[in-house]
Amino acid sequence: MSQTAPTSTKTFASHADVEEKQVSFDQLSPHAWAYTAEGDPNTGIVIGDDAVMVIDTQATPVMAEDVIRRIRQVTDKPIKYVLLSHYHAVRVLGASAYRPEHIIASQDTYDLIVERGEQDKASEIGRFPRLFRNVESVPPGLTWPTITFTGKMTLWLGKLEVQILQLGRGHTKGDTVVWLPQDKVLFSGDLVEFDATPYAGDAYFQDWPQTLDKIAALKPEKLVPGRGRALQTPAEVAAGLEGTRAFVSELYAAVKAGAAAGRDLKTVYRETFDALAPKYGQWVIFAHCMPFDVTRAYDEATQYPDPRIWTAERDIEMWKALEDVK
Ligand SMILES: [Zn+2]
Repeated sequence: MSQTAPTSTKTFASHADVEEKQVSFDQLSPHAWAYTAEGDPNTGIVIGDDAVMVIDTQATPVMAEDVIRRIRQVTDKPIKYVLLSHYHAVRVLGASAYRPEHIIASQDTYDLIVERGEQDKASEIGRFPRLFRNVESVPPGLTWPTITFTGKMTLWLGKLEVQILQLGRGHTKGDTVVWLPQDKVLFSGDLVEFDATPYAGDAYFQDWPQTLDKIAALKPEKLVPGRGRALQTPAEVAAGLEGTRAFVSELYAAVKAGAAAGRDLKTVYRETFDALAPKYGQWVIFAHCMPFDVTRAYDEATQYPDPRIWTAERDIEMWKALEDVK
Protein backbone atom coordinates (compact mmCIF):
# COMPACT_ATOMS: atom_id res chain seq x y z
CA MET A 1 0.00 0.00 0.00
CA SER A 2 1.45 3.39 -0.89
CA GLN A 3 1.83 6.10 1.72
CA THR A 4 -0.48 9.06 1.91
CA ALA A 5 1.10 12.15 0.40
CA PRO A 6 2.08 14.68 3.06
CA THR A 7 -0.16 17.32 1.53
CA SER A 8 -3.32 15.40 2.42
CA THR A 9 -4.91 15.06 5.82
CA LYS A 10 -3.32 12.30 7.89
CA THR A 11 -4.53 10.87 11.14
CA PHE A 12 -2.28 11.72 14.11
CA ALA A 13 0.65 9.34 14.65
CA SER A 14 -0.60 5.72 14.68
CA HIS A 15 -4.28 6.38 15.44
CA ALA A 16 -5.37 4.81 12.13
CA ASP A 17 -3.32 1.66 12.88
CA VAL A 18 -5.85 -0.75 14.37
CA GLU A 19 -5.07 -4.09 12.74
CA GLU A 20 -3.70 -6.78 15.08
CA LYS A 21 -0.41 -8.38 13.99
CA GLN A 22 0.61 -12.02 13.77
CA VAL A 23 3.16 -13.02 16.43
CA SER A 24 6.20 -15.20 15.58
CA PHE A 25 8.37 -16.89 18.21
CA ASP A 26 11.58 -18.03 16.51
CA GLN A 27 14.68 -19.79 17.79
CA LEU A 28 17.98 -18.31 16.53
CA SER A 29 20.53 -20.40 18.44
CA PRO A 30 20.70 -22.80 21.40
CA HIS A 31 20.13 -19.82 23.74
CA ALA A 32 18.37 -17.11 21.72
CA TRP A 33 14.73 -16.58 20.77
CA ALA A 34 12.84 -13.72 19.15
CA TYR A 35 9.25 -12.64 19.78
CA THR A 36 8.30 -10.55 16.73
CA ALA A 37 5.02 -9.33 15.26
CA GLU A 38 5.15 -8.01 11.70
CA GLY A 39 6.95 -4.78 12.56
CA ASP A 40 5.55 -4.18 16.05
CA PRO A 41 8.17 -3.77 18.82
CA ASN A 42 10.12 -7.00 19.38
CA THR A 43 11.16 -8.81 22.55
CA GLY A 44 14.35 -10.88 22.73
CA ILE A 45 14.82 -13.90 24.98
CA VAL A 46 18.09 -15.41 26.22
CA ILE A 47 17.86 -18.78 27.94
CA GLY A 48 20.99 -19.53 29.98
CA ASP A 49 21.92 -22.53 32.11
CA ASP A 50 20.07 -21.32 35.18
CA ALA A 51 17.94 -18.32 34.20
CA VAL A 52 16.19 -16.42 31.45
CA MET A 53 16.79 -12.82 30.38
CA VAL A 54 14.13 -10.83 28.53
CA ILE A 55 15.28 -7.96 26.29
CA ASP A 56 12.56 -5.27 26.02
CA THR A 57 9.26 -6.09 27.59
CA GLN A 58 6.31 -5.08 25.34
CA ALA A 59 4.17 -2.07 26.12
CA THR A 60 1.95 -3.41 28.89
CA PRO A 61 1.94 -6.27 31.44
CA VAL A 62 -1.04 -7.84 29.66
CA MET A 63 0.92 -7.93 26.39
CA ALA A 64 3.99 -9.26 28.22
CA GLU A 65 1.89 -12.21 29.45
CA ASP A 66 1.85 -13.52 25.88
CA VAL A 67 5.67 -13.42 25.80
CA ILE A 68 5.77 -15.33 29.10
CA ARG A 69 3.34 -17.91 27.71
CA ARG A 70 5.70 -18.55 24.74
CA ILE A 71 8.77 -18.71 27.00
CA ARG A 72 7.02 -21.32 29.14
CA GLN A 73 6.52 -23.48 26.04
CA VAL A 74 10.33 -23.83 25.73
CA THR A 75 11.72 -23.55 29.27
CA ASP A 76 10.68 -23.55 32.92
CA LYS A 77 13.82 -21.68 34.10
CA PRO A 78 13.13 -18.52 36.11
CA ILE A 79 12.98 -15.16 34.32
CA LYS A 80 15.52 -13.34 36.48
CA TYR A 81 16.56 -10.44 34.29
CA VAL A 82 14.89 -7.80 32.18
CA LEU A 83 17.21 -5.73 29.98
CA LEU A 84 16.01 -2.38 28.66
CA SER A 85 17.68 -1.59 25.32
CA HIS A 86 16.56 2.02 25.83
CA TYR A 87 13.96 4.08 27.71
CA HIS A 88 10.99 4.17 25.30
CA ALA A 89 7.72 3.34 27.03
CA VAL A 90 6.53 0.96 24.33
CA ARG A 91 9.43 -1.37 25.27
CA VAL A 92 9.55 -0.78 29.02
CA LEU A 93 6.11 -0.62 30.59
CA GLY A 94 5.40 -4.37 30.44
CA ALA A 95 8.31 -5.08 32.83
CA SER A 96 6.27 -5.78 35.95
CA ALA A 97 4.69 -8.88 34.39
CA TYR A 98 8.00 -10.77 34.50
CA ARG A 99 8.58 -10.07 38.20
CA PRO A 100 12.33 -10.04 37.50
CA GLU A 101 15.02 -10.03 40.18
CA HIS A 102 16.75 -7.26 38.25
CA ILE A 103 16.07 -4.69 35.56
CA ILE A 104 19.27 -3.74 33.76
CA ALA A 105 19.88 -0.54 31.77
CA SER A 106 22.73 1.78 30.86
CA GLN A 107 23.34 4.73 33.16
CA ASP A 108 22.41 6.98 30.22
CA THR A 109 19.06 5.22 29.92
CA TYR A 110 18.51 5.60 33.67
CA ASP A 111 19.27 9.31 33.37
CA LEU A 112 16.75 9.67 30.52
CA ILE A 113 14.06 7.95 32.61
CA VAL A 114 14.73 10.46 35.39
CA GLU A 115 14.76 13.40 32.99
CA ARG A 116 11.87 12.54 30.63
CA GLY A 117 10.30 9.22 31.59
CA GLU A 118 6.94 10.67 32.66
CA GLN A 119 6.60 12.83 29.55
CA ASP A 120 7.63 9.95 27.29
CA LYS A 121 5.08 7.63 28.87
CA ALA A 122 2.22 10.06 28.21
CA SER A 123 3.51 10.88 24.74
CA GLU A 124 3.87 7.26 23.58
CA ILE A 125 0.53 6.13 25.00
CA GLY A 126 -1.01 9.00 23.03
CA ARG A 127 0.71 8.01 19.81
CA PHE A 128 0.02 4.26 19.70
CA PRO A 129 -3.40 3.24 21.02
CA ARG A 130 -3.16 -0.32 19.59
CA LEU A 131 0.32 -0.94 21.00
CA PHE A 132 -0.77 -0.14 24.55
CA ARG A 133 -3.41 -2.84 24.78
CA ASN A 134 -4.85 -2.97 28.32
CA VAL A 135 -2.87 0.10 29.28
CA GLU A 136 -4.72 0.03 32.62
CA SER A 137 -2.51 -2.96 33.57
CA VAL A 138 0.59 -0.69 33.64
CA PRO A 139 1.40 0.06 37.30
CA PRO A 140 1.49 3.73 38.33
CA GLY A 141 4.82 5.49 38.01
CA LEU A 142 7.82 4.43 35.96
CA THR A 143 9.89 1.28 35.45
CA TRP A 144 13.16 1.73 37.33
CA PRO A 145 16.37 -0.18 36.55
CA THR A 146 17.93 -1.93 39.55
CA ILE A 147 21.34 -2.39 37.91
CA THR A 148 22.99 0.25 35.73
CA PHE A 149 26.28 0.10 33.87
CA THR A 150 28.49 2.30 31.74
CA GLY A 151 30.02 0.98 28.53
CA LYS A 152 29.97 -2.75 29.12
CA MET A 153 28.86 -5.37 31.60
CA THR A 154 28.97 -9.14 31.39
CA LEU A 155 26.31 -11.37 32.85
CA TRP A 156 27.04 -15.08 33.22
CA LEU A 157 23.95 -17.26 33.01
CA GLY A 158 25.82 -20.35 34.17
CA LYS A 159 28.36 -20.97 31.39
CA LEU A 160 26.62 -18.65 28.95
CA GLU A 161 28.38 -15.32 28.51
CA VAL A 162 25.95 -12.44 27.92
CA GLN A 163 27.66 -9.18 26.95
CA ILE A 164 25.60 -6.03 27.54
CA LEU A 165 27.16 -3.27 25.48
CA GLN A 166 26.71 0.43 24.93
CA LEU A 167 28.41 0.91 21.56
CA GLY A 168 27.46 4.53 20.98
CA ARG A 169 24.52 6.83 20.53
CA GLY A 170 21.97 6.37 17.77
CA HIS A 171 18.26 5.78 18.34
CA THR A 172 18.75 7.35 21.81
CA LYS A 173 21.62 8.41 24.06
CA GLY A 174 21.41 5.22 26.11
CA ASP A 175 21.20 2.53 23.41
CA THR A 176 22.26 -0.89 24.63
CA VAL A 177 22.74 -4.12 22.68
CA VAL A 178 23.01 -7.68 23.93
CA TRP A 179 25.67 -9.89 22.35
CA LEU A 180 26.06 -13.63 22.78
CA PRO A 181 29.65 -14.28 21.61
CA GLN A 182 29.32 -18.07 21.71
CA ASP A 183 26.18 -18.10 19.57
CA LYS A 184 27.07 -14.99 17.51
CA VAL A 185 23.60 -13.58 18.07
CA LEU A 186 22.96 -9.86 18.63
CA PHE A 187 19.85 -8.13 19.99
CA SER A 188 20.01 -4.56 18.69
CA GLY A 189 16.97 -2.78 20.10
CA ASP A 190 15.87 0.06 17.84
CA LEU A 191 19.42 0.73 16.59
CA VAL A 192 18.55 -1.65 13.74
CA GLU A 193 15.15 -2.12 12.09
CA PHE A 194 14.11 -4.41 9.25
CA ASP A 195 11.28 -3.57 6.83
CA ALA A 196 10.28 -1.02 9.46
CA THR A 197 11.00 2.68 9.62
CA PRO A 198 13.59 3.77 12.19
CA TYR A 199 12.02 6.15 14.71
CA ALA A 200 14.48 8.99 15.20
CA GLY A 201 12.60 11.53 17.28
CA ASP A 202 15.14 11.12 20.10
CA ALA A 203 18.09 10.24 17.91
CA TYR A 204 21.66 11.34 17.35
CA PHE A 205 21.85 11.28 13.57
CA GLN A 206 25.54 12.04 13.30
CA ASP A 207 26.51 9.22 15.66
CA TRP A 208 24.09 6.52 14.52
CA PRO A 209 26.07 5.22 11.46
CA GLN A 210 29.26 4.83 13.53
CA THR A 211 27.34 2.85 16.14
CA LEU A 212 26.11 0.56 13.35
CA ASP A 213 29.77 0.09 12.31
CA LYS A 214 30.53 -1.14 15.82
CA ILE A 215 27.67 -3.64 15.64
CA ALA A 216 28.95 -4.86 12.27
CA ALA A 217 32.46 -5.24 13.72
CA LEU A 218 31.17 -7.89 16.14
CA LYS A 219 30.24 -9.95 13.04
CA PRO A 220 26.86 -11.15 14.24
CA GLU A 221 25.53 -14.09 12.26
CA LYS A 222 21.98 -13.53 13.49
CA LEU A 223 20.27 -10.39 14.76
CA VAL A 224 17.00 -9.51 16.42
CA PRO A 225 16.09 -5.95 15.33
CA GLY A 226 13.86 -3.57 17.27
CA ARG A 227 11.09 -4.04 14.74
CA GLY A 228 10.79 -6.57 11.96
CA ARG A 229 11.43 -10.28 11.73
CA ALA A 230 14.49 -12.02 13.16
CA LEU A 231 17.47 -11.93 10.77
CA GLN A 232 18.74 -15.48 10.45
CA THR A 233 21.83 -15.26 8.19
CA PRO A 234 24.87 -12.95 7.87
CA ALA A 235 23.44 -11.66 4.57
CA GLU A 236 20.16 -10.73 6.28
CA VAL A 237 22.06 -9.06 9.14
CA ALA A 238 24.03 -7.02 6.59
CA ALA A 239 20.79 -6.02 4.87
CA GLY A 240 19.27 -4.89 8.17
CA LEU A 241 22.32 -2.81 9.06
CA GLU A 242 22.55 -1.34 5.55
CA GLY A 243 18.87 -0.46 5.32
CA THR A 244 18.92 1.32 8.67
CA ARG A 245 22.15 3.14 7.83
CA ALA A 246 20.83 4.27 4.43
CA PHE A 247 17.57 5.62 5.86
CA VAL A 248 19.24 7.50 8.71
CA SER A 249 22.03 8.90 6.51
CA GLU A 250 19.78 9.93 3.61
CA LEU A 251 17.23 11.56 5.89
CA TYR A 252 19.86 13.54 7.77
CA ALA A 253 21.67 14.62 4.58
CA ALA A 254 18.41 15.87 3.07
CA VAL A 255 17.38 17.78 6.20
CA LYS A 256 20.84 19.24 6.75
CA ALA A 257 20.97 20.53 3.16
CA GLY A 258 17.52 22.11 3.49
CA ALA A 259 18.38 23.73 6.82
CA ALA A 260 21.71 25.02 5.47
CA ALA A 261 19.83 26.62 2.56
CA GLY A 262 17.68 28.46 5.09
CA ARG A 263 14.41 26.66 4.38
CA ASP A 264 11.90 26.31 7.21
CA LEU A 265 10.99 23.03 8.90
CA LYS A 266 7.71 22.53 7.08
CA THR A 267 9.31 22.98 3.66
CA VAL A 268 12.17 20.68 4.57
CA TYR A 269 9.67 18.13 5.89
CA ARG A 270 7.74 18.00 2.61
CA GLU A 271 10.91 17.78 0.52
CA THR A 272 12.35 15.03 2.68
CA PHE A 273 9.11 13.05 2.78
CA ASP A 274 8.89 13.16 -1.03
CA ALA A 275 12.55 12.24 -1.43
CA LEU A 276 12.38 9.21 0.89
CA ALA A 277 8.88 7.87 0.21
CA PRO A 278 9.69 6.07 -3.07
CA LYS A 279 12.44 4.01 -1.39
CA TYR A 280 11.13 3.61 2.16
CA GLY A 281 7.40 4.38 2.02
CA GLN A 282 6.45 0.69 2.19
CA TRP A 283 8.18 0.20 5.56
CA VAL A 284 5.79 0.02 8.52
CA ILE A 285 5.20 3.25 10.49
CA PHE A 286 6.82 5.39 7.73
CA ALA A 287 4.09 8.06 7.86
CA HIS A 288 4.09 7.92 11.68
CA CYS A 289 7.85 8.39 12.02
CA MET A 290 8.61 10.99 9.37
CA PRO A 291 7.30 14.10 11.18
CA PHE A 292 9.18 13.16 14.38
CA ASP A 293 12.33 12.10 12.51
CA VAL A 294 12.56 15.22 10.35
CA THR A 295 11.84 17.49 13.32
CA ARG A 296 14.67 15.93 15.30
CA ALA A 297 17.04 15.98 12.31
CA TYR A 298 16.27 19.67 11.75
CA ASP A 299 16.95 20.35 15.43
CA GLU A 300 20.27 18.49 15.31
CA ALA A 301 21.29 20.26 12.09
CA THR A 302 20.53 23.66 13.59
CA GLN A 303 20.59 24.46 17.29
CA TYR A 304 19.84 21.41 19.44
CA PRO A 305 22.68 18.91 19.90
CA ASP A 306 20.47 16.90 22.30
CA PRO A 307 16.88 15.79 21.58
CA ARG A 308 14.19 17.98 23.08
CA ILE A 309 11.64 16.27 25.32
CA TRP A 310 8.47 15.13 23.54
CA THR A 311 5.26 15.63 25.48
CA ALA A 312 1.74 14.64 24.48
CA GLU A 313 1.10 18.33 23.80
CA ARG A 314 4.26 18.89 21.78
CA ASP A 315 3.46 15.80 19.66
CA ILE A 316 0.10 17.24 18.64
CA GLU A 317 1.45 20.73 18.10
CA MET A 318 4.23 19.45 15.84
CA TRP A 319 1.83 17.21 13.92
CA LYS A 320 -0.57 20.11 13.35
CA ALA A 321 2.28 22.25 12.05
CA LEU A 322 3.50 19.63 9.57
CA GLU A 323 0.29 17.75 8.71
CA ASP A 324 -3.39 18.63 8.84
CA VAL A 325 -4.35 16.67 11.94
CA LYS A 326 -7.64 14.81 12.07
ZN1 LIG B 1 12.60 3.20 20.66
